[in-house]
Amino acid sequence: MSAPRALVTGGAGFLGSHLCERFLAEGFEVLCVDNLITGALENVEHLFSDARFHFEKRDVTEYLHVPGELDAILHFASPASPIDYLELPIQTLKVGSLGTHKVLGLARAKGARFLLASTSECYGDPLVHPQSEDYWGNVNPVGPRGVYDEAKRFAEAMTMAYHRFHGVRTRIVRIFNTYGPRMRLHDGRALPAFMAQALSGEPMTVFGDGSQTRSFCYVDDLIEGIYRLLNSDEPLPVNIGNPTEMTILEFAQAVIKCTGSSSEIVHGDLPVDDPKVRQPDISKAKALLDWEPAVDLSTGLAKTMAYFAARLSARGGGERSH
Ligand code: UDP
Repeated sequence: MSAPRALVTGGAGFLGSHLCERFLAEGFEVLCVDNLITGALENVEHLFSDARFHFEKRDVTEYLHVPGELDAILHFASPASPIDYLELPIQTLKVGSLGTHKVLGLARAKGARFLLASTSECYGDPLVHPQSEDYWGNVNPVGPRGVYDEAKRFAEAMTMAYHRFHGVRTRIVRIFNTYGPRMRLHDGRALPAFMAQALSGEPMTVFGDGSQTRSFCYVDDLIEGIYRLLNSDEPLPVNIGNPTEMTILEFAQAVIKCTGSSSEIVHGDLPVDDPKVRQPDISKAKALLDWEPAVDLSTGLAKTMAYFAARLSARGGGERSH
């Protein structure tokens, strides 16, 4: 019997590359598709020696033909950090809408299971705390973050329509803040910014007074949750994230402690529509998937620091895009 085949869109990105690895380890042949506007081949370079790994540079908003059978499709293509989707607003909207439509069409044609990478951004600046899946969110459609939030909300609606109307076996994961190796140094998110600043002794830029909260999940925990969700029968959204909530100031201090840095904290302007709180209610994932995170912040930060320290020294600290 031939190996099952999985397609990972955005497979050269931070989460996509970890998924490619996981599916290879589970015995799949993996087709990784990425247009490399925010992903990087370096993230999957180590997989090219595996004959079951295939890469194609492609934009999934265009017509998508994949020869042969497909068992699973994981749709992870999208700019995903605030500065990326502010720089790439149209591409962000297109990949969430047109891209999701194309990839769902492919799942239908192949009879493949389909998993959408959705986001806690669907909850916007939430008025319910912590956020459970039945909360519908507080999103500003016309603010700068709207291009990402609304694209993902549309993608969820499209995914449910393919499930209800065409009977496609779909899954939706709402991903909360995740960190780990292969995040881009300059993607503007809190963790890469703080790590790069702490490791090079530069001031750490906490936006606003740092009292806004986030809940950070280590990448291995997230991938485990996603794998379990794909193998479940749940078509409605499931939160996967670490419920340990902290302020951004506390998070910056945790990075200082982990790195032993002497960087000072400086405050900058809070971005427009920056959510004030964010914490997943993971009761559904616990009950349905028997999943909860296993990696605590200090362990996860230490592993992430090793990655960033190696990259900074390899690039002499002069890295720009990745
Ligand atoms: N943030 C910060 N300094 C930075 C980058 C981000 O204080 O250099 C803050 C940001 O304003 C937000 C939080 O950290 O409140 C998390 O930001 P991130 O971009 O990582 O993800 P978000 O949860 O906003 O999508």
